Amino acid sequence: MQYVSTRGSAPARDFEGVTLAGLASDGGLYVPAEWPRFTQAEIRALRGLAYPDLAARIMAPFVAGSLTEEELLAICHNVYGDFGHAAVTPLVQLDAQHWLLELFHGPTLAFKDVALQLLGRLFETFLERRGERLTIVGATSGDTGSAAIQAVAGLERVEIFMLHPKGRVSEVQRRQMTTVLSPNVHNLAIDGSFDDAQAHVKLMFTDPQVTGRLNLGAVNSINWARLMAQVVYYFASALQLGAPERTVAYCVPTGNFGDVFAGYIAARMGLPIERLIVATNINDILHRALSCGDYSAGGVTPTITPSMDIQVSSNFERLLFDAGGRDGAALAEQMRAFEATKAMRLTEAQAQAASALFTSARADQVETARAMQWAYRAAGQVIDPHTGVGLHGALSVAAAGIVPAGIPLVTLATAHPAKFPDAVERAIGVRPALPARVGDLFGRAESVTHLAGDYAATRDHVLDKAVGSQG
Ligand SMILES: *Cc1c(COP(=O)(O)O)cnc(C)c1O
Repeated sequence: MQYVSTRGSAPARDFEGVTLAGLASDGGLYVPAEWPRFTQAEIRALRGLAYPDLAARIMAPFVAGSLTEEELLAICHNVYGDFGHAAVTPLVQLDAQHWLLELFHGPTLAFKDVALQLLGRLFETFLERRGERLTIVGATSGDTGSAAIQAVAGLERVEIFMLHPKGRVSEVQRRQMTTVLSPNVHNLAIDGSFDDAQAHVKLMFTDPQVTGRLNLGAVNSINWARLMAQVVYYFASALQLGAPERTVAYCVPTGNFGDVFAGYIAARMGLPIERLIVATNINDILHRALSCGDYSAGGVTPTITPSMDIQVSSNFERLLFDAGGRDGAALAEQMRAFEATKAMRLTEAQAQAASALFTSARADQVETARAMQWAYRAAGQVIDPHTGVGLHGALSVAAAGIVPAGIPLVTLATAHPAKFPDAVERAIGVRPALPARVGDLFGRAESVTHLAGDYAATRDHVLDKAVGSQG
């Protein structure tokens, strides 16, 4: 499989190339040159497969030429064999129409594990083949950092330096990072804000003292392999609910548009998806874009759903490319204008193609809490606030008849409620407990280095501790 850039001028690459590269050299994002299609009979034949076997079948066309089927299958068993639930992403029924797809049974209790655990193994496989090493540097305000650390802990050819603003991440989030005591994991607590930590990371990528010695990498949400891994649970859940004979709708709590774009990919591959509901909190650039074509960035307002507090949605560019007729030169122009003015309008073609599959919904704090209360009272389910934003969207589009009553409507449950215990307790009066397998989090030793907020201190520490890029 070859991949092309959404901005049309970077050279095409194979799966190994796009996994290691992340962003394309023209600033665009990689997408497959064409979508692999599964016939109805082929989809039917996937029924009953265990998750790791299904994952290998769904991802096979995307990795063709870079991994053999045996290699891919071994990686999938390795990655998905030790999730906290045998089904990996189990479905839970809420009522006659509504379901939850639990994506939080990985090591850090959020859906990002499903993709990042795979990405870690892919890095290791490709680096081994090339005799190279990779030094990942990143900044986190909470969730992504812990999922990335867990994804690479103990790997031979990857090391990770994760910066977080000292004292500004929750205790659960900090401990999920600092209690990973692997020699290739380095937690750095930086004086200052998340933006300060992020600025240090950006400077390292352009600092010749660093790039001259280290093969730097990132694990941000635009990496193609992450989206590919997320396609699998759309197939897994739809098959359980009767696909391909029955169509299924999904509601997805959305930030960077990665998780919901994976649903779009599944639809392009032939999975009969009735509708994809893009659920946002009050940071609603996507809701405005999909409901009236206005894609304009405002400031970010902090909410009880921090993983969806975004200003722009990086993966949205992939939809604009595909839905707008795959004209890289035109999209490059559109994105340049957006980057200059922080605002743009969708073209008629983009808006029409998007509305054929997507509907959007927005939830404020009160609506989010109400959905969490509904899940608890009507179905006995304790859900996290991100899932609450999604469920609010699902309940409202069902009430409006946008998804007919006979069609199952699945809300993606993106985090375990115990990751956000304060918000859950405020909404439903119940404090969720951590699952047993991470229940000793508060008793584990931590490893973290405190650094003053200046860039030179961060850089010198990384250069001192890094093993570097030699095989
Ligand atoms: C990252 C995240 C999201 C948003 O996912 P995107 O792929 O960025 O749209 C939603 N919920 C939780 C809990 C997350 O960690």
